[in-house]
Amino acid sequence: MTTPLNQSLMELPDRLCTWCQVPMKKRLVGGQQFVHYTCPKCVFQHTTRLGPKPPSPAH
Ligand SMILES: [Zn+2]
Repeated sequence: MTTPLNQSLMELPDRLCTWCQVPMKKRLVGGQQFVHYTCPKCVFQHTTRLGPKPPSPAH
């Protein structure tokens, strides 16, 4: 297993602001399991999870 503790921000996928269509600033949050995007031009924010999704519970 690998621990992406030193994952570079450059490796994170870019995301365009929904409204401005400009590249959003990226920041790792939540123990580096999430990427927090903020638009430099407006107040739009978006958070996405990194890596594979957690295994779904058996049902
Ligand atoms: Zn924006």
